[in-house]
Amino acid sequence: MRAAVLHEIGQDKLEVLDDVEAVGFGPGKVRLRIRATGLCHSDVSAMSGVLPQPAPFIPGHEGAGEVVDIGDGVTGLNTGDRVLVCWLPACGACPSCKRGQTQLCLAGFMNAGTPNFKRPGGDVFGFAGTGTFTEEVVVDAGCAVPIPDDVPFEIAALIGCGVTTGLGAAINTAQVEAGSSVAVIGCGGVGISTIQGARVQGAAQIVAVDPVASRREAALRFGATEAVSPDELADAKQRITAGEGFDYVFEVVGKSATARTAYENTRRGGTLCIVGAGAMDDNFQVNMFELFFDEKRILPSMYGGGDVLRSYERAIALWRAGRIDLESMITHRVRLDGVNDALDQMRTGESLRTCIEL
Ligand SMILES: [Zn+2]
Ligand SMILES: [Zn+2]
Repeated sequence: MRAAVLHEIGQDKLEVLDDVEAVGFGPGKVRLRIRATGLCHSDVSAMSGVLPQPAPFIPGHEGAGEVVDIGDGVTGLNTGDRVLVCWLPACGACPSCKRGQTQLCLAGFMNAGTPNFKRPGGDVFGFAGTGTFTEEVVVDAGCAVPIPDDVPFEIAALIGCGVTTGLGAAINTAQVEAGSSVAVIGCGGVGISTIQGARVQGAAQIVAVDPVASRREAALRFGATEAVSPDELADAKQRITAGEGFDYVFEVVGKSATARTAYENTRRGGTLCIVGAGAMDDNFQVNMFELFFDEKRILPSMYGGGDVLRSYERAIALWRAGRIDLESMITHRVRLDGVNDALDQMRTGESLRTCIEL
């Protein structure tokens, strides 16, 4: 079958090959036919080595499709079911799952070190234990989450990562209060979802911060009350908060420099929410005096910062009610052969989300 493979970490192009096989099918597993997959910034970060990932590998962790084969012992799924791919399946039994923090369950990561594809040349890994830039993938049954009939594959795919991450940061983690002031630094797909989450929560001002003009324009369509470039942020802070700082600042880039900017633009006693996925050798610094004296709450948010299945259901409910716009987040569409164009669009900031149709 066809799949897009990265041969070595650090390369910036994928090779679309037709000699790839999805392996590992057996008890507790399902085989999926992927129909749509989004390109998430984490895929690019895994390719460049910012996020740890063994190679060669197939990127993609934001996908949706149909169940085509069911392993022994799998309950609650049938052949033909429409599902989205959850890259962080909850085991249901560990302390995190029992607390309702399924986004912190590590059981799924045990699979990330096991290759789930192969080629004549050898084993191929899937990103984050999934790998959706492919026609078929074998995953744990817990990674296949049934979706209602009215949710198109391309919308379900977005809910599988970017939308859940961004909405959840505003709703679950920061719990943005009605009437508050918000700044969102980084306005790709996740940042746009954070803006939509802040709007759902009733924020009065939502300032989108991004160096790319097309993303600033997009942010205004999704609920930002104004959009500025990074060097205009200080002025916006002065105008909107009389210099005090925003009630909530979301860092959706994944770099210590932007996290520091976010910290400095958060008011004393306000909330800095870290949403971006960054590197292990990039350290965020806060001195002990400001930490205690300014009482800013630093809240990291992983995959929406709450129960993952509940977050999916909420995203679907908000979308169905017209309270969030997911269709317009898909700015580009390609077939698998166009995956390198999609990567370029993401690197230049031209796209919010590119949907790869399979
Ligand atoms: Zn668990
Ligand atoms: Zn992602």
